[in-house]
Amino acid sequence: MVAPILIVGGGLAGLFCALKLAPHPVTILSTAPIGSGASSVWAQGGIAAALSDGDTPEKHTHDTVVAGAGISDEAQVLSMAQEARARIHDLLSYGVPFDRDLEGKLVQSREAAHSERRIVRVKGDMAGKAIMEALHNAVTAAPSIEVASGLTAQELVCVDGRVTGILVENKEGALITYSASAIVLATGGIGHLFEVTTNPVESRGLGLAIAARAGAVIADAEFVQFHPTAIDVGRDPAPLATEALRGEGATLLNGAGIRFMLPIHPDAELASRDIVARAVFAEIQAGHKAYLDCRDAIGAAFKDKFPTVYAICISAGIDPATDLIPIIPAEHYHMGGIATDGMGRTSLPGLWAAGEVASTGVHGANRLASNSLLEAIVFAARIGEDISALEFAQVRPGKLMRDAEPNKEVEGLEAELRHTMAQHVGVMRNREGLVSSLKKIAYVQKNAKTLSLQNMATSCLMIAAAALARHESRGGHFRTDYPLPVPGLAQRSHLTLAEAQKISEEALC
Ligand SMILES: Cc1cc2nc3c(=O)[nH]c(=O)nc-3n(C[C@H](O)[C@H](O)[C@H](O)COP(=O)(O)OP(=O)(O)OC[C@H]3O[C@@H](n4cnc5c(N)ncnc54)[C@H](O)[C@@H]3O)c2cc1C
Repeated sequence: MVAPILIVGGGLAGLFCALKLAPHPVTILSTAPIGSGASSVWAQGGIAAALSDGDTPEKHTHDTVVAGAGISDEAQVLSMAQEARARIHDLLSYGVPFDRDLEGKLVQSREAAHSERRIVRVKGDMAGKAIMEALHNAVTAAPSIEVASGLTAQELVCVDGRVTGILVENKEGALITYSASAIVLATGGIGHLFEVTTNPVESRGLGLAIAARAGAVIADAEFVQFHPTAIDVGRDPAPLATEALRGEGATLLNGAGIRFMLPIHPDAELASRDIVARAVFAEIQAGHKAYLDCRDAIGAAFKDKFPTVYAICISAGIDPATDLIPIIPAEHYHMGGIATDGMGRTSLPGLWAAGEVASTGVHGANRLASNSLLEAIVFAARIGEDISALEFAQVRPGKLMRDAEPNKEVEGLEAELRHTMAQHVGVMRNREGLVSSLKKIAYVQKNAKTLSLQNMATSCLMIAAAALARHESRGGHFRTDYPLPVPGLAQRSHLTLAEAQKISEEALC
């Protein structure tokens, strides 16, 4: 009997891939139930697609490549932009209620760094929720798709160099091995490797780690995007104060009431995300604190114009019409991930990756807003096509030569790891900090008692080692000891776990 196709992760990439694989039987394994525990549900902006008159995939490509700071794979970007129309039509066919004008045409909005109006949305800021609801319904109705939640993938099983199965942990801590003809990792991002993040708790970099531990090549791991204005009210994950607030004229102040962005960039608060995030981080590091001031620009209209952010502020005892909103930069998106080719294949036979866990090369060193949902559906669809075309040989069930680890953790080790990542592998980095982070990561690797924490430490190692190896600043990667981009280094990075380990050992000796 041929083993099933497994998709690990029930976010946009996972669900879309499963639907594209129909009628092939597919099982989706996911930590969280579908509809929760996925960044996809929280996406507020929308999906970029060049659909309006005057816009073209070439213009979309140009904007994406500019944002990518010199290292995007332009051919991949162009093909993604060209397929956007077809994938948006797929979403419409699954019932996604994108906003339309009076003539029934899709409404296209503008976002920072897009030269055209090209974002499709749902009811303003409800895109993620609406898309996931529609896909969830489609998945439930598809007889070929089975969903099993409460299962967390912790290790890949390989036989003769081919991925043949996966070890998952259930809620009680028991370990189960699933055999598979093909495995698609769609486990999302890495936010919770950092102390402050906008991502759901399930975004812990486990997918990246299990691929790396099986020998997969990881690309561009050092490129992490930080959102400059997460609301600093001690919540984990940190709620977002959308960029649209600054678009409406809200300003950034430090604790002394000084508008600190003015001397930093001609666009002040509207400078790119990485520049604003560094400025906010610097104010906080200097003990000045940082605030978003919406009082004059938005004032009493706040409640009606930004109901989501308003509700968050009010629940934390802040009235944004009259009070300053405390802010902090937060990990938001990982440009890097498991290296994949144009069909979503990883370097390991039998393993594909889609969505934020993958690195297709389209984002380069910095992601253009609303391109991540597009990337997720474009490459998930191609994976569906690729796997559908395969004739599977019978696979032998993999066997793990290791007993279950006890499911208990050394007190506070995860919090220490996340703190170190935020301090030294975050918005600003330098050799000294990166080396100290590698020391902490090695300590956690040695002392972690759970598979999850071991995997988190592995992903941290991949990011910190790649950051140490890149002797320049580019896009989301900023080194205070190498503050400028170096033209000769304008290329993507590719690292295996063994290479990252070597970088760490050399730095620590
Ligand atoms: C607040 C916020 C707003 C955003 N807004 C936008 C936007 O407007 N436009 C845009 O393009 N992008 C946006 N993004 C980014 C975008 O939402 C994500 O990049 C995208 O949704 C990722 O989709 P995914 O399917 O790869 O991962 P996710 O949607 O995060 O899904 C991951 C899935 O994997 C599961 N999982 C994780 N680890 C395991 C494991 N080890 N085993 C089993 N299952 C596992 C999770 O439970 C989940 O089901 C936003 C992100 C955030 C956080």
